[in-house]
Amino acid sequence: MYIMNPMDCIFCKIINKEIPSAMFYEDENAVAFLSISPTSIGHSLIVPKKHSRTALEMSADEFSKLSKAFAIVPNKIKSVVLATGINIIQNNESDAGQVVFHTHFHVIPRFPNDGLKEFPHADADKEELSALAEKLRSAF
Ligand code: 5GP
Ligand code: ZN
Repeated sequence: MYIMNPMDCIFCKIINKEIPSAMFYEDENAVAFLSISPTSIGHSLIVPKKHSRTALEMSADEFSKLSKAFAIVPNKIKSVVLATGINIIQNNESDAGQVVFHTHFHVIPRFPNDGLKEFPHADADKEELSALAEKLRSAF
């Protein structure tokens, strides 16, 4: 597993204004800026200022500090680009599609018949679900 030095992190550099971005929101704990390769118009990233490699490393306190950004940014994007829906997506590790190893949350505006695909899914076996839920309950 590649562990990046935060000094080399492109999102830390954007947060510190060492490199430019289309940033449009900033509070004490987070920033939001437009993705350079958007999935749809207004595709933005909510990025915690504190560097972590993936969201799986974040503490409950670090998550709670993002609540203000999450309460404001998606709604503002939705009203500005006149979206009719919003996906909030977060990738952890390469197998999940993560490319930039500074935790970030995608805010993806959606529009009627925009052609973007949802995750494929199929009905599960109920007994398998119960068994897995039991395993998860006992893991807490
Ligand atoms: P990931 O695949 O890691 O979840 O998503 C990386 C996101 O960061 C993508 O939306 C990509 O377009 C965006 N991105 C990567 N490098 C830059 C950059 O230098 N500037 C900006 N604004 N977005 C970036
Ligand atoms: Zn970083």
